Amino acid sequence: MTQTAPESCDLLIEAGFVVPVEPHGVVLEDHAVAVRDGEIIAVLPRAEARARFDPAEIVSRPEAALIPGLVNAHAHNPMTLLRGVADDLPLKVWLQEHIWPIEGAVIGPEFVADGVTLAIAEMLRGGTTCCNENYFFPDVQAATYKRYGFRARVGLPVIDFPTAWAKSDDEYFARAGEVHDQWRDDALIATAFAPHAPYTVSDANFEHIRMLADQLDLPVHLHLHETAQEVAQSQQKHGQRPIARLDRLGLINDRLIAVHMTQLTEAEIHLCAERGVSVVHCPESNLKLASGFCPACALQKAGVNLAIGTDGVASNNDLDMFGETRTAAILAKAVADDAAGFDAFSALRAATLGGAKAMGFDHLVGSIEPGKQADLVCVDLSALETQPLHHVVSQLIYATGRHQVGDVWIAGKPRLARRELVDMDMTGILANARQWQARIAAVLR
Ligand SMILES: [Zn+2]
Repeated sequence: MTQTAPESCDLLIEAGFVVPVEPHGVVLEDHAVAVRDGEIIAVLPRAEARARFDPAEIVSRPEAALIPGLVNAHAHNPMTLLRGVADDLPLKVWLQEHIWPIEGAVIGPEFVADGVTLAIAEMLRGGTTCCNENYFFPDVQAATYKRYGFRARVGLPVIDFPTAWAKSDDEYFARAGEVHDQWRDDALIATAFAPHAPYTVSDANFEHIRMLADQLDLPVHLHLHETAQEVAQSQQKHGQRPIARLDRLGLINDRLIAVHMTQLTEAEIHLCAERGVSVVHCPESNLKLASGFCPACALQKAGVNLAIGTDGVASNNDLDMFGETRTAAILAKAVADDAAGFDAFSALRAATLGGAKAMGFDHLVGSIEPGKQADLVCVDLSALETQPLHHVVSQLIYATGRHQVGDVWIAGKPRLARRELVDMDMTGILANARQWQARIAAVLR
């Protein structure tokens, strides 16, 4: 028998359990994942890995489950600085009388950079490695995500009124083009169009977005059918429900990332399935703002790609994808009156590969497979809260808290190591959050 020389790799992560997400429903015991140049090159039993590779670094976590990094498919992360600033109010009052006036006073590059930095630290500590961002100043967001090695798709906002980001339709589109051009070839950052909502964007602007999204091959990230009021208002103003109106404008297709979708007819569910629309379920925001319930089981049964998002911290009030996914799973069952619906594996899939697919990132991330980027999360299951370990994925979805996240890598680079943030100044981030609390309080006085 000939002895072959071991292959080099940068990192070998050994875990008690590897949950690759693809293939579906699989838990690999005592396996290892080999990483080279930021990419997963092999997933194999630990003993075989030790024989085959000569890794520069070995991380051994026999008590942990290794999962793909969680994908937060809908967030407004600069708003992390508005956590708890206005609670217990209906959506319209919350937005128009509280959030928008505060934003009017503080919004700008500094607010966006600081809010995103705080959000990145919170997301990393909760096992999230990728987010679909939707806010003003996408140029600043992109630079901040890049600085900390975080994967993101930043939304290029379009809304029918002037903001600190742009004053006119022409300016919104011009700035969108500039940000897209700047980041078009980046390995971590990409862009999407982000028209705010059907009730704040005109037919002409939606048509313009449709044309540009086709030309530039970009997704369209949109709040849609969030409340019954939105649907009624559209019927009054346009004589159509928002989905029918968007279909008339050519936007109901596989580029569309439709967020919320709490008001859906059977026909609309089937239209979304047929056209390849992805739906982002944001259960905690919908519950807190009493917006309604996304029929996640019915969408899943119809074949619609489902993703999970926290929405902004001002309506959640955290960026905890473990908590969000648990809420999504148990709420889906109640709404469908089916305890067997939306099982734990399906929930984990929505929180990883479903989000990646919605964002057009499924060739890069969302599962632990050779050829994909090494966006990986180690979750410690040895704590008494997740014992005894009868079923790994059941524990991950129904019992695990985000504080059990131990290690996080993005593109093979460590971002959290034994719960310590890597290359982020925790003391500085906390001091900065405190000074923003004082500044925002001064606006409210
Ligand atoms: Zn939102």
